[in-house]
This record gives sequence, structure tokens and C-alpha cells, in this order.
Amino acid sequence: ERIITSTMKDEDFDIENNLRPKSLDEYLGQEKSKEQLRIFIDAALNRNEPLDHVLLYGPPGLGKTTLAGIIASEMGVNLRVTSGPAIERAGDLAAILTNLQENDVLFIDEIHRINRSVEEVLYPAMEDFSLDIIIGKGPSARSIRLDLPKFTLIGATTRAGMLTNPLRDRFGVICKLDYYNVDELSKIVKRSSKILNAEILDDGAIQIARRSRGTPRIANRLLKRVRDYAQVKFDGNITDEVANDALELIGVDSLGLDFVDKKLLQTIIEKFRGGPVGLDTLAASIGEDRNTIEDVYEPYLLQLGFINRAPRGRIAMPLAYEHLGIPYDANSKK
Ligand code: ADP
Repeated sequence: ERIITSTMKDEDFDIENNLRPKSLDEYLGQEKSKEQLRIFIDAALNRNEPLDHVLLYGPPGLGKTTLAGIIASEMGVNLRVTSGPAIERAGDLAAILTNLQENDVLFIDEIHRINRSVEEVLYPAMEDFSLDIIIGKGPSARSIRLDLPKFTLIGATTRAGMLTNPLRDRFGVICKLDYYNVDELSKIVKRSSKILNAEILDDGAIQIARRSRGTPRIANRLLKRVRDYAQVKFDGNITDEVANDALELIGVDSLGLDFVDKKLLQTIIEKFRGGPVGLDTLAASIGEDRNTIEDVYEPYLLQLGFINRAPRGRIAMPLAYEHLGIPYDANSKK
């Protein structure tokens, strides 16, 4: 089981809700998105209208759900949470929509996974706040239009490119969330430590931040593990040394890589002579699903400059060799 996976694990449930910032000011980093949202929120509040529909996209664990909650609370409205896969039929969505109150926020996580028939209900709902229902069957069937309360749809997805064009076009505000830098993550770690009553030094927070793959969810999870280690092995105080020892023990290296990342890199380097190797071939040889590689493993390795996506497949870059301590011989690749 990977500890540094950016997707939600069972152990995250309790802690995540406690650690969620409640206002835009408390939400650290993502300055561009925050600035954009603050303007739209103020304008909507001034006009006493719901906020325009918002699409949040970026890798898991960067704070999309958190931001949806903050938007609802800044707007002073209710938040209703669901997800693309949870809405199976058009009728499920119709039920959710008709139960909203004026100006509410409806958050649909993994919105790229809603099916076609559900998506078609969303179009008039987003555009005109109305719902088309078919009554009856066969030749006597007719369509009636119901008015819905005005609402804000916040959709979240890991990649904006996975949405259909007509759906993407219906969002007035599009925010891309980026990986966090070490400074931002160490602030998040310190904020979380305070809430968890854990004592931490600046260096300890930086150690955790460096290994968190730019992702607050991972930072919080690592913090929890380090805190436990500090309590059992030391006096509870999280210093540089304590964080270092704990994270080495867990198997998360100085850049936040674990055995899965290393296996992937080593496979490209050793089995495929540095690549290029096609995604399917790579997936088969490390026994992983191609989508998982693309969505979960690769983004961070790409961001580190450890791999490259070329037309003929994945290539391991010199930085990866260096990190793994494998000599890089440019000549042998010609
Ligand atoms: P996503 O919906 O993108 O997968 P979440 O909103 O569930 O991510 O965030 C995961 C965890 O990370 C939350 O528990 C939250 O406490 C923390 N988090 C995310 N973004 C921030 C932020 N900007 N500042 C502080 N904590 C954050």
C-alpha cells in the first residue's frame, strides 16, 4: 500500500475534515485562483445572484473539494456534494437539482465521469436553470419544462481535457489548481500541526513539505505518521531529524518518491534502455493499469523532470538517473 498516493485513503477521512480551511484567507497558496474567485464572489454577492458555474481542475489532493466548501461558505449558501459516478441516471440528478435552495452550491466531483444522459440534463439546468422532463411514453409522450432554483455548479476534474466541449463551455469560471511549492506546503503542515496539537519546528515542517509531492493531502498524511513516530520514539517534538527518520522508515525518499516510482523509473532505464517505451508496454511490465500510471504516477515525475512524454513513449531523463544513482551515458542511447 502506497502512503504517498494522492488519492483519498480511508485513514484520511476524519483528519481531512478537521484540517479543511474554512475561508479563502485560510486557504494557502493557489494565489491566482483565489484572486479570480474573490472577484467573482464579491461581484455575485453585490448583485445578490448566485456565483457563475466554476470548473476546478488539477491532480487529486490539491484542494478542489475544500475550495468548493469555501466558496459556498463565502457566498453564505448551502453546499451539496456528489460525484460523477454516484449520479447513475438522469432522474438522480433531477432529484438533486429540484431539492436545491436558491443560490446553493452543487459540487460534482469527478464530473468527467458522468454519463451522457445525465450530462444532457445538466445543460439546460446550467444554462437556464430549467429541467426538461418527458411525461408519458410512445406517441403521447411530451416534454415539459420545470423551473429550478438558481444555483452554482462547481465541477471538479483531474484533467480539463476529459470533459466534453459543450459541458466545459458552460462553466463561466475555470480555475486550474497547481502543485504547491515547499514554502506553501510547509505553511500547510504548520497550520495542520497546530490543529492536531503537534509540536513542530520549521525544519521539521520543511522536511515533510519536501516529500509531499506538491500535494496538501499527502503533506497532512505524512504529518500524521511523523507525529505518531515523534510521540513513540521521541518527546513528541517534530524536528528535522525526527521527520527525516520517520519518513525514511516509511519508505518515502528525499523527493517524496517511493518503491512504485522507483520501479517505474528503473523499468524504463533498465528494461527499455531509457525508453522510449509505450504506455501500454510499461503498464504491462510493472503490472499497473495504464490510467493509474497516467493520472497518478506520471504527473509528479514529469514535474520533477524525471521523465518525458515523447511521441513514441516515455523516456527517462538524466535527472532520474542521477537521483537513482545510475550512470547516464548519452552516447549509448544513439
Ligand atoms: P481534492 O478535492 O482536490 O482531491 P481536497 O480538497 O479533499 O482535495 O484536499 C485534501 C486535503 O488537503 C484537505 O484535507 C485539506 O485540509 C488539505 N488542503 C487542500 N488544499 C489546501 C490549502 N490550500 N490550504 C490548506 N489545506 C489544504
